[in-house]
Amino acid sequence: MDGLLTFMGTGTSMGVPTLGCDCAVCTSADPHDRRLRPSVLLKWHDPGEDGRERFVVIDTGPDFREQALRAKLKHIDAIFYTHGHADHILGLDDLRPLSFTAFRENGPIPLYASPETTKVLERVFDYTFSPHATYPNRARLRLEPLEERTTVHGVEFLRIPLMHGKMEISGFRFGRTAYLTDVSGIPEASFALLEGLDNLIISALRQEPHPSHATVKQALGWARRTGARHTWFTHIAHELGHEATNRELPEEVRLSYDGLSFPVSL
Ligand SMILES: [Zn+2]
Ligand SMILES: [Zn+2]
Repeated sequence: MDGLLTFMGTGTSMGVPTLGCDCAVCTSADPHDRRLRPSVLLKWHDPGEDGRERFVVIDTGPDFREQALRAKLKHIDAIFYTHGHADHILGLDDLRPLSFTAFRENGPIPLYASPETTKVLERVFDYTFSPHATYPNRARLRLEPLEERTTVHGVEFLRIPLMHGKMEISGFRFGRTAYLTDVSGIPEASFALLEGLDNLIISALRQEPHPSHATVKQALGWARRTGARHTWFTHIAHELGHEATNRELPEEVRLSYDGLSFPVSL
């Protein structure tokens, strides 16, 4: 089955341009250097339901509303969360209007998250998830435990355990594509889940080391080890200019950019 993957945001937690910064990348005229907070959208035609379009989003950061408008997103079937940091969850409340429509049709939108991420979502959005929540216009969302494998309308999402500093977080594989953001380490056992990839999407923050994010060099090393046919960097900081960085990378490795879209096998 074929799907379409779209990058809704490819920037690091502060976004690019970064507030108050006058560096060459933050003031660049190249639209590829404008990066919203990281998120991807996967779309496919449901073979079980007359080819109805299905939409899954990974992470809803603070730019989610703007990203959903750009992508002309009118419907969401499920959301997967990588972890509970602000740049990955703070747009959750903007799901409200889409959740009202989904609720009328099939009930609340399922959100798949690890126990740690679920705890953060319940705390930050207690007015949505608390059993005592009374706000009538709260989002219609349903927190679901993230299992090793989750199937959404015929597409299987495999959880890939990753390290983000000292914290274990989740990456996802669907078909021959994997989305691994906020990575600082890949546990040995996770490499076995990353064999035979057409597309590896992996975070590469900058050239200088960071305690909880991979450098370009580290990400390149992991990309080589997986043997993925194509590698796309994401969660990119303002130290990396789009054109200049791409010139230095091997041909099969590219920086992704907001709005980039390509077909994927599911
Ligand atoms: Zn992040
Ligand atoms: Zn800057």
